[in-house]
Amino acid sequence: MADGACEHIRDITTVKHAKSRQCDECVKVGARWVHLRICQECGATRCCDDSPNRHATAHAHASKHPVIASAERGERWLYCYPDEAFAEY
Ligand SMILES: [Zn+2]
Ligand SMILES: [Zn+2]
Ligand SMILES: [Zn+2]
Repeated sequence: MADGACEHIRDITTVKHAKSRQCDECVKVGARWVHLRICQECGATRCCDDSPNRHATAHAHASKHPVIASAERGERWLYCYPDEAFAEY
């Protein structure tokens, strides 16, 4: 992993990808999202901080799952919430 990676990011050997291209929480409430992120702990797909409901961040705080990956095509990066660490892979 690249420089800037924290322990949580270094622990990831295989990056999880989105099972479905939707935010499951937004679908439940009929909301829209901008970009998608994937929780690297449980594989949940949630929306980014540019989305009105910021479900990826809400999920990270509620579940204490630290690392997300971008689900956007052409983006290969990981972000760790507790360490505010960002790394490309
Ligand atoms: Zn970390
Ligand atoms: Zn959402
Ligand atoms: Zn999770």
